This record gives sequence, structure tokens and C-alpha cells, in this order.
Amino acid sequence: MRTHESQITIIDMKFATKVIHAGIEPDPSSGAIMTPIFQTSTYVQKSPGEHNGYEYARTQNPTRDALQTNLAALENGDYGICFSSGMAATDAVMKLLKSGDEIVSTNDLYGGTYRLINKVFGQFGLKGHFVAMTDLSNVEAKINANTRLLWIETPTNPMLNIIDIQAACDLAKKHGILTCVDNTFASPYLQTPLDFGADLVLHSATKYLGGHSDVVHGAVVTRNKELADKLYFIQNAAGAVPGPQDCFLILRGIKTLHLRVQRSCDNARIIAEYLRQHPKVNRVFYPGFEDHPGHEIAKRQMRDFGGMVSFTLKEDTLEAGSKVMSNTHFFSLAESLGGVESLIGHPPTMTHASIPRPERLAVGMTDSLIRLSVGVEDADDLVADLEKAFGDF
Ligand SMILES: *Cc1c(COP(=O)(O)O)cnc(C)c1O
Repeated sequence: MRTHESQITIIDMKFATKVIHAGIEPDPSSGAIMTPIFQTSTYVQKSPGEHNGYEYARTQNPTRDALQTNLAALENGDYGICFSSGMAATDAVMKLLKSGDEIVSTNDLYGGTYRLINKVFGQFGLKGHFVAMTDLSNVEAKINANTRLLWIETPTNPMLNIIDIQAACDLAKKHGILTCVDNTFASPYLQTPLDFGADLVLHSATKYLGGHSDVVHGAVVTRNKELADKLYFIQNAAGAVPGPQDCFLILRGIKTLHLRVQRSCDNARIIAEYLRQHPKVNRVFYPGFEDHPGHEIAKRQMRDFGGMVSFTLKEDTLEAGSKVMSNTHFFSLAESLGGVESLIGHPPTMTHASIPRPERLAVGMTDSLIRLSVGVEDADDLVADLEKAFGDF
């Protein structure tokens, strides 16, 4: 819901300017430079139907509008639609489909998305196929007359596989299928999927966009007016809207997105290189390595290689993995990612515990697999923290 005037200026802005200025105007009533938190459920009308464009806060809220405009600009889109969580945003996209429709996605998809497709929308007649999407012939093999949506996530979690967004969108277009890219792991600073032909881009803003581990939030961005209208309708009709305080926190986080993500990328590169030469480490999964199978694609579609690094230990056991994790200090043992502070996690016993072991092993997720969300601390301290944890076992 951006005005024509701001639209013109947004198009001319570079990314580091957009994060701070796109959709953000001083509050007309006070001049406040920060977007006010419009903590209200309703708006007074002069006479029935005579109002300033705001009637009820599920439908519209000025703090949310500012964020929606800002997010649309960051993703080089035209419409931003915000939700109360990444999963609520995903839920809204699934509601574009109808019973009997089929979805093709990756076999190392975010667990919550897999659960939503199978356990919730499965009951309403949607069907998901989950294949190794790094090879698009696997996707093509699942496409049939009922296929409506290609759901792409790249880099993937926790194996950091890279999917070719342009090639996947070309394939989908050939078959008249909608594409949605979950861009949570990259953030729009690193990757803007709409530029590669995606119809929709989705975020768990809980992660890099918010960036401070203090809010749960989700968003979808598109250039397609028809899809945007349907999503605004679902946003209001189903009502999984974010509160104004949460929108404010995401807006505030976004102002430093480029600085935070770049620092995370720089730190992750140092840590990946440190891990690769460590005698106790077996494999390091990091798309910035030239021998990573997705490196060339990542170079094409990403500005840098991200702040996530996964690795396995030579002593490939659950016990060895948990020992390393229990002995770090700056890397806090927790789920989630994308905050200023570094996190360490053990997917086999945490986020991916519900996946049967043979399936885990088949995608390379062996027992000692550790995932790092590298924050913006000093890289020397982070390396020293890992060095100490390795020394302790
Ligand atoms: C966290 C996450 C989600 C879900 O978002 P919430 O904000 O937790 O609901 C979806 N996709 C990816 C890749 C995620 O990391």
C-alpha cells in the first residue's frame, strides 16, 4: 500500500538506503522520525464510511503498512503482506491452493513447512512431493496435471544445499506452476528471488530480518497484483496478522540488515575455513567453498554465501556432537538463527529429531552434524570458543 510518490523514490534507492528509508516517512502529526507503534484496534470515523483509510486493525494498521512497503522494496517486489509468523505466512500461501492440488518441494525442507503441508493441508486434500531439488529432473518427474506450486528453499537447512532459483522458476513457468521461494536463510540482502522469476518470496522475519531474536514474524512479497490481492484477502479473512509492536521491531531490525548479514557472512567464512582444517572435523557444509556442489549457482544468485555453516565430526556420534555443543560459550545452544548472537544446534536431536535416522543419513545428516548460525561478534572470539570446545572432548 505504498503511495505513488514513495514508489518513485524507492525504485531509485540502493539496498542500504532502502532498509532505512523505503516506506518510512516521518509521522505527519508529530514529526517523529521513527514509525510510531499504532497500538489500536480501531479508528474513529467522521461519519459512517468517512475515514483515513483505516477502519479496523486486523484489516489495516499504519505500522504494518510501513513494514509491508519496506519489505516489498527490499525484495524488489511491489506488494508486501505481513503475518504473525513465518508459518502463518506459509499457511496463507498454501491457502491459494485448493483440494486436489499438488506441491513439489525439496527433501530437506524446513521441518515446519513439511509438517504444515502433510499434517494440516493433507487433511484438506493437498499433496506434497519432496525430492532432491538440486537436480531438477527429480522435480520434473513429479509434475503432473494437478501440480500447482513449486516450493523452493535455498540455501537449505541444515545441509546448505543450493537450488538454482532461475532454472527452477523456468521449469515451473513451462508447466504453468506457481513458484514460492522461502528466502529466510539468505535474506533479501543476499538474494532477491523475484529477480530470477519467482512469483512469491517468503520470510520467517523472526530470523535475519528481525535479527535480534526478540520477535516472531512472517511475510510474503510479490510483484503479481492478483496474487497480492488474494493474499491481502487471506491476511484479513484468516486473521493471522502481526501486532504493531512486532512490526516496529522488524522495521527496527531491518535498518541494520545489510551490516549484520555482511558481518555474519564474513565471520562464517573465517569459521568455515577454521573448521575445514581442524583434525577433529570431518566435513564442512558451506556454499562459499569452491568445491561445494552449489558454489557456482550460489555465486550467481547470492551476493555472499550466508552466515550458516554445518559440519560433522570424525567421531561421528550423537555424544561427540553434544559434547562440542555443551562446551561453547559464545555459541549458545538454541534453535532458530539469524540473530546478532551466534547459535549452535544439533539438528539430529533438535530441529530434525522427527526425521527417521535412515532418512537423515541419506541426505548426509549424520549423527554428529552440528549447525552454526554465525552472529556478528568478533571472529577471533568465535574461533577461540570453538577451539576450546574441541579441546574439551
Ligand atoms: C524459522 C523458519 C520458518 C518458520 O518461521 P516462524 O517465524 O518460526 O514461524 C520457515 N522457514 C524457514 C527456512 C525457517 O528457518
